[in-house]
Amino acid sequence: MRVRIRRELLEYLLQLARDFYPNEFAGFLRERDGIFEEVLIAPNPHFGNTSAFFDPWMLPYDESIKGTVHSHPGPNPWPSEADLEFFSKFGGVHLIIAYPFTEEDVRAYLSSGEPVGIEVVE
Ligand SMILES: [Zn+2]
Repeated sequence: MRVRIRRELLEYLLQLARDFYPNEFAGFLRERDGIFEEVLIAPNPHFGNTSAFFDPWMLPYDESIKGTVHSHPGPNPWPSEADLEFFSKFGGVHLIIAYPFTEEDVRAYLSSGEPVGIEVVE
């Protein structure tokens, strides 16, 4: 399995990560026909030292939301304990964008925490 993401969205996410730096940014990913196309920036993420996670109960019910994204202000792209707990509750797939926020700094994980590949769709 691979995560499919539209190039425009990926570039926008990288820009958001840079704009929020040194803070973390977090958002929800909307999918259309198996491709992530859109991000909803989380209105009130709980930012911590090692993770940005958010309360899924704050979400409006939206079947097209199939994943999340958040940035790490350091070079570590691995999920924290809090991230893993959140992933398992949320389901779907999860992107982490690590500093310095280039395309090579993006990692995708299943809700189990297992890494998966990313396919950029033009
Ligand atoms: Zn994290």
